[in-house]
Amino acid sequence: MREILLALPGREQSYRIVLDPGLRHRLGAELAGLQLSPRLFVVADARVARLYAEDVLAALEAGGTLPQLLTIPPGERTKSWSMARRLARRLLALGADRTCAVAALGGGVTGDLAGFVASIFLRGVPFVQVPTTLLAMVDAAIGGKTGVNLPEGKNLLGTFHQPRLVALDPEFLQTLPRRERLNGLAEILKAGFIRDPDLLSALDAHRLGLFEDPEALHYVIFRAAEIKAQVVAADEREADTRRILNFGHTLGHALEAASAYRLPHGQAVAWGMVFALELSTLLAGLRPETAQAGRRLIRACGLARRLPSLDPAAILAALPHDKKRRDRDLVFVLLEDAGRPVIHRGAPLPLVREVLGRLMEMNPACQDKRV
Ligand code: ADP
Ligand code: ZN
Repeated sequence: MREILLALPGREQSYRIVLDPGLRHRLGAELAGLQLSPRLFVVADARVARLYAEDVLAALEAGGTLPQLLTIPPGERTKSWSMARRLARRLLALGADRTCAVAALGGGVTGDLAGFVASIFLRGVPFVQVPTTLLAMVDAAIGGKTGVNLPEGKNLLGTFHQPRLVALDPEFLQTLPRRERLNGLAEILKAGFIRDPDLLSALDAHRLGLFEDPEALHYVIFRAAEIKAQVVAADEREADTRRILNFGHTLGHALEAASAYRLPHGQAVAWGMVFALELSTLLAGLRPETAQAGRRLIRACGLARRLPSLDPAAILAALPHDKKRRDRDLVFVLLEDAGRPVIHRGAPLPLVREVLGRLMEMNPACQDKRV
C-alpha cells in the first residue's frame, strides 16, 4: 500500500490518497476511519456499475455503511446541469439529508458530476473519490475541482470541493479500454515533463508494456498522483503553480474544440505537449535533443501519432487569446528542461502558427491543410 497525505494550506482537513491493488474490496474499512454518516450514495455510470458496483457495495456494507447506488449514463454528455439537478432530486427522493455522504465510482465524468452535486447539495456534503480510469486516478480525482458542462463550453459551472478520501485501486484498469488508458498515460507523461525526469525514464523503460507490469504501473500512477497532489497543495486555486499542470493543455484544448471533441483528451494533450516541446526550444532554451527525446517518448507510448484533419484556422481561433490584444494573451507552459517548467506569456502568433504548421506537416492526415 502506498499513500499520500494531501494537506491544503489553511485548511483543517487534510485527506489521504491511498493506492492499493484490490482496495475496492476494503473500501468499507478505509471509510470507517473518516467518521462519515452510514448513509452513503455511490454514483457510477452504468458501465462501471455493471463491472464493479457489486464488489464496492459489498465492501461498503461490510464496513458498516448503508450504501445506495445511483447510476448515470456513461459519456461526457452526462456532465450536465440537468443531470446534476436530477441526481440531487434522486437524493432527496431517497431521503438524503445533510449528514449523508456521496462517493463517485468511475472516471472523470462521474467524479466531476458527483463532486459538483456533493458540493452544492444542502450546501455541501462530504465526498469520496473512487476513480476507475487512469486519467481520473492521476488527475481528475485529485485537487477538488468539480463541474458540469454548458452548451457554450466544458466545465463552465463548477466548484472546489475537496474529497475526504481518494481510493486508488489499480485493478480497475484491467477492464479499461486502450483508448482510455492512453488518455491517462498522457497525463502521466505531463507529470513527468513538469516535475520528474525519473518518471519519464520509467515510462521509457516500459512504454505500452506498462500495463502488463503491475509494479511499474503502480509506481507511475502513484508518482503522477503525488505530483498532482503536491502542485495542488502548493496552490489550491489556480495561480502560477497550479498553472504548470496545463503543460500541453493550451493547444490541447484548442485541438479538442476544433475537432468538436472527437479527439480524445489524452491525444489532444499529447499533441499539445509535442507542440510545447518544440516551442520551448524556440522560446525557453530547451535543448533540441531533449525536445526530440520527449517527442519520441510520447509517440512510443501510443500517443500523438495521427491527428484528424483539422482546420488550422479553427485551431488558432480556439486558442485562448484576446483578439484585440493579438498575441499578448497567448500563455503557454514551456520547459527550460525536463522537470523545469516556465509560464511564458506573449508568444508571437506568427511563431505559434509556424510551429503548428510543422506539427501538421508531420502528420499525414493534415498534408492537405496548410496553415
Ligand atoms: P475520463 O476519466 O476519461 O473522464 P469517463 O468518466 O468519461 O473517463 O469514462 C470513460 C469511459 O470508460 C466511460 O464509458 C466509462 O464507463 C468507462 N470506464 C470507466 N472506468 C472503467 C473501467 N475501470 N473499466 C472499463 N470501463 C471503464
Ligand atoms: Zn488533462
